[in-house]
Amino acid sequence: MAYDDGNIFARILRGEIPNKTVYEDEHALAFHDIRPQAPVHVLVIPKGRYVSSDDFGAEAPAEAIAGFWHAVSRVARDLRLDQSGYRLIANHGANSHQEVPHFHVHILGGRSLGPMLVKRG
Ligand code: 5GP
Repeated sequence: MAYDDGNIFARILRGEIPNKTVYEDEHALAFHDIRPQAPVHVLVIPKGRYVSSDDFGAEAPAEAIAGFWHAVSRVARDLRLDQSGYRLIANHGANSHQEVPHFHVHILGGRSLGPMLVKRG
């Protein structure tokens, strides 16, 4: 899947759409999710043009990958979630219902999050 420069997170990175930033460095931007699903729900995105986790892991240079994951851990610590615990989610593709085609990791926390997936059928 080709990267779409019109996706909402590309527009956030270009400053065209406001966001509630919690952290930014050369590799990553972290901001509050617009529809939080936990008391703390922050998205961390790389600055580069990667569609999903699959694309990022396969194509990004090692420095970008290390910088991105360093930022994820730092944001979770800055939000004081490292003691109470948190969940990371990265959706890829249709079965995951990925909505925004720019790689992002959800950081969820602030309460007990229950089982990882709702069981169906
Ligand atoms: P996905 O399903 O792609 O893993 O998650 C996309 C996330 O982006 C959703 O949790 C959704 O609420 C969030 N989101 C979508 N549009 C915006 C926006 O314009 N601003 C912010 N801050 N979050 C957004």
